[in-house]
Formats: sequence, structure tokens, C-alpha cells
Amino acid sequence: MYLQAIQLLRTQPCLAEPGKIVVVGQPSQPLDEVLPFLATLPNVIAYNPHGPALTFRRERGFLTLYRDQVVITQVDDHERGVELLAALVDAINATWDSRHELIAITAPKRSLRPLDLWALLPQTNCKVCGAATCMAFAFGLIQRQYDLDECTPLIQEAARAAQLASLRAMLG
Ligand code: SF4
Repeated sequence: MYLQAIQLLRTQPCLAEPGKIVVVGQPSQPLDEVLPFLATLPNVIAYNPHGPALTFRRERGFLTLYRDQVVITQVDDHERGVELLAALVDAINATWDSRHELIAITAPKRSLRPLDLWALLPQTNCKVCGAATCMAFAFGLIQRQYDLDECTPLIQEAARAAQLASLRAMLG
């Protein structure tokens, strides 16, 4: 066993999908050692071993694991958040117990789709960044034509901090 628990630290409205929440949890021990093994699992869309940060695509939303924190976007409610954190503990422990059968990933990994990034952008098409739409900005981010800091609404609005952190983790 690697982890005892992931404590629910806080929730906040998920601006990526009105009515949903972002769940932030704190693992009972740092995740550094298990992240290279978790990075072998399906649905990884970004892994930065130097962060470290590992992002998975969920059916709806994203799960990002950092050394001392996990962030899950687009969660139905508080109760569902608690369930997801418990399931995550089980998945982490199962992966750790199987680590001798896995080849740890130590290099950065990215499998981003523009839609993944767009889902976390403000989606107002305000053009402040210079792109015609948020989707165009998302394409540009993948091609390194734009920098995340050029989306002023994302950077300046405190309520978008979780989305910003997830985007930074994805883009490395
Ligand atoms: S500044 Fe941000 S919100 Fe505005 S169009 Fe660009 S990506 Fe979208």
C-alpha cells in the first residue's frame, strides 16, 4: 500500500461546466514515487516528471495529480468528489502494488487535443489574447504559437485558478 487516504481539502465552482464543482484533495503522503508508474496508465494526456504533474482525461473533465495535491474538474457534487478521491486511493495503491510489472515513465509525455485545452479556457471568445476564438487559442497553444499568459481573463480571475493550474500542468 502506498497511500492511506486523500483528504478533501476544498471544493469550488467549476467554471468549465456550470453546476459542477472542482475537487481539491491532499494525499496522506507525497505522490512523487508513484507518479512514474501512474503515468503508464491509459488516458494520460500530459505528464511532466519535473513538476511533477500528471493529468488524466476523465469521461467528463480532468484529473491532475501533483506531488502534494490532486485536482478533479467537472465533478457532480461533494459526495461524488469524496467517492472519486476514495477510488483514486484504490487506483494508486493497486498501481503501486503492481509496480514491479510496470516500466516507470521518466520522460515527459503529451497527448493533448485542442478540445482538452478549450474545455478549461473561459470560452468567451473575447479576443484579448489575439486569437479569434478560444478554440483557435487552444490550437495555438498546442502549436506553441500562443502562451497561456496571453489569456488575461484566465490569468487574472481568481475563480479560474484551478483551471489555470490544470492547463499549466498539461502544457508542462
Ligand atoms: S483571451 Fe482567453 S477567453 Fe479571450 S478569446 Fe483568448 S483564450 Fe478565449
